[in-house]
Amino acid sequence: MKKLALIIDDDADFRRFVADCLSEAGWEVAQASDGETGLELARARRPDAVVCDLLMPRGNGFQVCRTLRADPALRDLTIVVTSGRTFPADRDAALEAGADAYLTKPFSPGHLLEVLARPALARGEGSAIAAELERTGSSPAPGAAVAVGTPPSRQASASGAWFRFWGVRGSVPAPGPGTARYGGNTSCVEVRAGGQIIILDAGTGLRPLGRALMEEFGPRPLHLTLLLTHTHWDHIQGLPFFRPLYEPQCRLRILGYEGARQSLVNVLTSQMESPYFPVPFEELPANVQIEELRDMAFELRADGAHGATSAISVRAHFANHPGVCVGYRLDTTDGALVFFPDNEPWTRVHVTRSATHGPSGTTADVEAFARAEEAKMIEFMRGAEALILDAQYDATEYPAHVGWGHGSVESAVALALRAGIGTLFLFHHDPEHDDATIDRMVAAARERVAREGGKLAVEAAQEGVRVELATLRRGR
Ligand SMILES: [Zn+2]
Ligand SMILES: [Zn+2]
Repeated sequence: MKKLALIIDDDADFRRFVADCLSEAGWEVAQASDGETGLELARARRPDAVVCDLLMPRGNGFQVCRTLRADPALRDLTIVVTSGRTFPADRDAALEAGADAYLTKPFSPGHLLEVLARPALARGEGSAIAAELERTGSSPAPGAAVAVGTPPSRQASASGAWFRFWGVRGSVPAPGPGTARYGGNTSCVEVRAGGQIIILDAGTGLRPLGRALMEEFGPRPLHLTLLLTHTHWDHIQGLPFFRPLYEPQCRLRILGYEGARQSLVNVLTSQMESPYFPVPFEELPANVQIEELRDMAFELRADGAHGATSAISVRAHFANHPGVCVGYRLDTTDGALVFFPDNEPWTRVHVTRSATHGPSGTTADVEAFARAEEAKMIEFMRGAEALILDAQYDATEYPAHVGWGHGSVESAVALALRAGIGTLFLFHHDPEHDDATIDRMVAAARERVAREGGKLAVEAAQEGVRVELATLRRGR
């Protein structure tokens, strides 16, 4: 009897590639395009092997591995997790979740068959497969801002979408005189659109945002939506210090994708457990809901609490960054805002990877794969009025940080030019970069745009700066 392999991947071309290669080798093949459907098929058909993508809608590869391993009827099948990403942390988390092997895309048919043919890919031997992942990398104007210091609006107006930076730093807060102008707080951006208040990330910038919201709304109802890109510390550490959480009239919906190791609820509530924090999450007076997102596109509907309402269409796209990390695109009536705080350009990582070695594919395959992934990201960003993008390193620093999951000014400009963006905001400033360094990075970025004859405007994200999307649109 033929052995059955189940392929779970949201990329139809890649499913076809794996299906062809397994069919030719005599396997029967079943396919699913998301995690949830994959799990249903696995329960119904009991495959001998599952070849599962890491990042896809409705259940990522980590969740699929954990669910399969927890089911007594399924726990002995072979699981191969595949991903285009080369971060060691992803490989470790996939093996920990129950994968037998981790294959970096693209790979040759022979390589996959060889992995599937290995006898007794017994649980717990995952680390022996560690070599499947080629490690990459060497080791593990000022104030030209738009409407600086505009006082906060007294109303969450239904028209006139705008955003304001509350935290622009990456990795860890960096207060002090050297960073006073651009700011030392970590990732947090407030968006007002369609009568809604949407917060992107909960880094330490969330604390001053909370204070400003309490000043604006006082005892009136305050309804907020927080979209988390991922749960690295610099993106969630402001949450316990967000004043609206301590106000019963506040309602906060927290939306994000489940992480590599734990559920979103666990990650967020455990940072408030003793001994890390004195007030447990369950004792917060506000009405807080934490919801795990399953789909990559959804709508945020206003409930009328802050005046006139209209729905905001939100789309998410997985970033090239360790763990489960996304960028968001918010389409408003005044234009689109794209937020990608943590992301390393695909081509730079993979060109370096292919230049070193790799059992998985030829140099041409690897480069073609990276270019295809980059093209998908560019389509996701296409034409946005504002792009807030990871530009942690300058051109001289980046080569020593290839494979760390962050971008450079150069790569940010290149992406923004190709995506036809109106204004690029350099974001996730390195904690070691003072204001003068960031000024130099902005100048270098603008020079590059001028050299290439592009129309892109470049700014560095700066705490306190408020940006009207309609103003950016008019300036294009
Ligand atoms: Zn970060
Ligand atoms: Zn991160």
